[in-house]
Amino acid sequence: MQQSVMKAWWDSSHMAGGNAAYIEELYEAYLEDANSVSQQWRSIFDNLPKVEGVELDTNHSVIREQFKAMAALGPAARAGASQSAPAAVGDDKQVKVLQLINAYRFRGHQHANLDPLDLWKQERVRDLELSHHSLAEKDFDTRFNVGSYAIGEESMTLKDLFASLNRTYCGSIGSEYMHITDTEQKRWLQQRIESVEAKPQISRDEKVSILKGLIAADGMEKYLGAKFPGAKRFSLEGGDSLVPMLKGLISHAGAQGAKEVVVGMAHRGRLNVLVNVLGKNPSVLFDEFSGKHDESLGAGDVKYHAGYSSDFATPGGNLHLALAFNPSHLEIVNPVVMGSVRARLDRRNCQDGSAVLPITIHGDSAIAGQGVVQETFNMSQTRGFQVGGTVRIVINNQVGFTTSKIEDTRSTQYCTDIAKMVQAPIFHVNSDDPEAVLFVTKLALDYRNTFKRDVVIDLVCYRRHGHNEADEPNATQPLMYQKIKKHPVPRLIYAQQLIAEGVIEEHEVEKLISEYRAALDHGACVVEEWRPMTEHSVDWTPYLGHDWDVEYDATISKERLIELGKAITSYPETHQLQSRVKKLYGDREAMVAGEKLLDWGMAENLAYADIVSRGTGIRMTGQDSGRGTFFHRHAVIHSQADGQDYMPLQHIDSEQGRMEIYDSVLSEAAVVAFEFGYATAEPGTLTIWEAQFGDFANGAQVVIDQFLSSGEAKWGRLCGLTMLLPHGYEGQGPEHSSARLERFLQMCADHNWQVVVPSTPAQVFNMLRRQAIRPMRRPLIVMSPKSLLRHPLAVSSLDELTDGIFHNVIDEVDEIKPADVKRVVMCSGKVYYDLLEQRRKNEQTDVAIVRIEQLYPFPHAEMAETVVNKYKHVKDWVWCQEEPQNQGAWYCSQHHFWSSIPDGAKLTYAGRAASASPAVGYNAIHNQQQKALVDDALTL
Ligand code: AMP
Repeated sequence: MQQSVMKAWWDSSHMAGGNAAYIEELYEAYLEDANSVSQQWRSIFDNLPKVEGVELDTNHSVIREQFKAMAALGPAARAGASQSAPAAVGDDKQVKVLQLINAYRFRGHQHANLDPLDLWKQERVRDLELSHHSLAEKDFDTRFNVGSYAIGEESMTLKDLFASLNRTYCGSIGSEYMHITDTEQKRWLQQRIESVEAKPQISRDEKVSILKGLIAADGMEKYLGAKFPGAKRFSLEGGDSLVPMLKGLISHAGAQGAKEVVVGMAHRGRLNVLVNVLGKNPSVLFDEFSGKHDESLGAGDVKYHAGYSSDFATPGGNLHLALAFNPSHLEIVNPVVMGSVRARLDRRNCQDGSAVLPITIHGDSAIAGQGVVQETFNMSQTRGFQVGGTVRIVINNQVGFTTSKIEDTRSTQYCTDIAKMVQAPIFHVNSDDPEAVLFVTKLALDYRNTFKRDVVIDLVCYRRHGHNEADEPNATQPLMYQKIKKHPVPRLIYAQQLIAEGVIEEHEVEKLISEYRAALDHGACVVEEWRPMTEHSVDWTPYLGHDWDVEYDATISKERLIELGKAITSYPETHQLQSRVKKLYGDREAMVAGEKLLDWGMAENLAYADIVSRGTGIRMTGQDSGRGTFFHRHAVIHSQADGQDYMPLQHIDSEQGRMEIYDSVLSEAAVVAFEFGYATAEPGTLTIWEAQFGDFANGAQVVIDQFLSSGEAKWGRLCGLTMLLPHGYEGQGPEHSSARLERFLQMCADHNWQVVVPSTPAQVFNMLRRQAIRPMRRPLIVMSPKSLLRHPLAVSSLDELTDGIFHNVIDEVDEIKPADVKRVVMCSGKVYYDLLEQRRKNEQTDVAIVRIEQLYPFPHAEMAETVVNKYKHVKDWVWCQEEPQNQGAWYCSQHHFWSSIPDGAKLTYAGRAASASPAVGYNAIHNQQQKALVDDALTL
């Protein structure tokens, strides 16, 4: 009993889980020196229950190590220890030695030699000094048991141990992993790091291959610098190790069975990576510098945003390599890469992440500064977004843009501290030691593949030039750049090392340099491992070259609808539904039986059932997608008996497509970016993101602007992402009324996406099916309803679903004679029902109401055929909207309305007055406004 109470307390305590290691560390510091922790923690520790007669607790890590040491010494020692009580702590010096080991594991990184420029002012860490542990050089010849120190020896002289600890933890690698609470992971890392003192044997071939990578990195920048002086290239110089590092990482991944690698990186070093890792032909790059470009890419983008795809030969066979396109918005590409990887993993039916590796490359200021990084860490282990861990590399050039002082860029010790939120191991490494870089790279990948978690490599380097090559860095970082000017380039440092080791001779180095330069002169691919692309897992050709009006057949029989309806209302008898959900499912059964008209939720679920039954997959995410924010979807049902989930849509057909719905993490930016990445990598799945309320999408504005609206124009990449954005003026105040329709309309051009406002269940049914069945992949932005989900007039019969057509325009539905019509009111969305009800109340026959269900691409032909032909004689046309005049469709779509109405007709506006806020906060005012705009539209 006592024990279970303790366990419950511990499990719910802030001292458990991820905080435990931190608190243990604090407690140990407190035991060493009570004043070394904050007053708050001191009083917590002071008040811990004490054992009578014992003044101060013993350092826990020491006790742990002591037990291990005794276990290692065998039964005799253990028996000895049990004979006298104080022996649990044992010989004082032995305890201190174990404490010393622990100190290096925790804090060795703070004394590591990480900065190639040697400018970092390292704090003196007393825990790493012998004297701090009451040890001294006079103890050097004494042998001590080394506990769990994984060097392969049970005991060592203090001298050897001290030297070994310094080599392992304070060399070119600073390892941070003691924040990990999982013992298995910690032991695994210790084994890998300590057993080789963080410095493995590297073969001659590997050394030469590293040197070649450095020669390529340096050679490429020098070549561009000479040929195109002053042109922006965001040179890699200073971080040259990235090239051998990436090649090593990809090669090692292939050897371990990876089939695809997706890389995301910002502009720094990108051109170098494109040519020296992905194998982009340098002559193509040079052409781009000279102003030539690929005509097929529409508006295009600058060369340092370009993506690329190729195959790469590895010891495990060829793998496919993709560098994601991305804008200048640095870290936002990370969730895009994760989404792309998840799509590829799903396609390969690989759940553990082993088949596809995501690599994201960050900047030191950006990884600490941009919140989307935190969002991706938070996603990294969740059901809907996990990708088996991401290898994250920071190109840490120690200066963000022109920010000289750390205290201006972050509030953490390292730029990578954010990774500790998921207990990712972090390896800081001096980029001027490329062998150390390769060591941590392989270690990081092995960790990722073993534990399926994120891992971070902080490549500490410098930036040889300014932010770009036209910048003058001395203006802002004078001392750093004086040092950089004198600092030899990485290939020179490493070549000298290899010459000194006798691995290579100077003339051979010269030969490698001139061979590389000659390859660039010839415009030849410079990556030996490059292979033409055959390994990618999807074919986009069926979707290329189609516009939104491409023909498709989506007719469906009533019998099939009934079959699907039965399937989506079936669930195991043992699955006990909550009473409201049960009633809703009962209503759906009545809809299938033809006893009730279909509501929105039923039509939407029927659409999903039909899509998956055709073999197409569906992936839907959003903060409340399973149930639906407005309690309408209930695609996932939760048993009241045992809390189990059931999704009828996963049980439609044995051969059906993948059906996945995830309630997402509470983020917009990273989740929408992830879904963009998914949809751009997988045309065979209908990918849907749903906002809780429509305007919450503005948390993902960067993704909407930089990727969704413009990705095809800039990069030629198609994306069929569907965004469901609840929109409608129902008196719920400024934040819950508008999905900011005007912003989406303002970005419409080149048929880049579709903006629709469906108003009936039949329309949502065929809108979703059109997006999945039609061989065109462009984003679908949907102003989806809230109150319409249950509006008595917003219903459809099964028959209305069967034509398979999404009607871009819906003509008058009441029996109104065209000849009697004096005014045509055009509108979209929920206001239609307000107008209809009021007109019926008024018993008016002189106003026709026409719904424009697709605002973009504007359906000019349908308007002409179905509406304008009928009302040619009408001179009074009105656009009615609920949104304020400066919002909604009035300004952004007005040119389309004008071009649709008969010559000589006038077009006027009925809607709310312009307003800074999307909607009023007071319901009474909302109602007044709504009544006024409806009256205005109907009153001649
Ligand atoms: P990836 O697997 O991303 O490297 O893509 C391989 C190839 O498929 C690319 O080189 C493109 O030709 C094509 N492709 C990939 N994604 C898209 C997309 N979203 N739209 C059009 N074509 C694509």
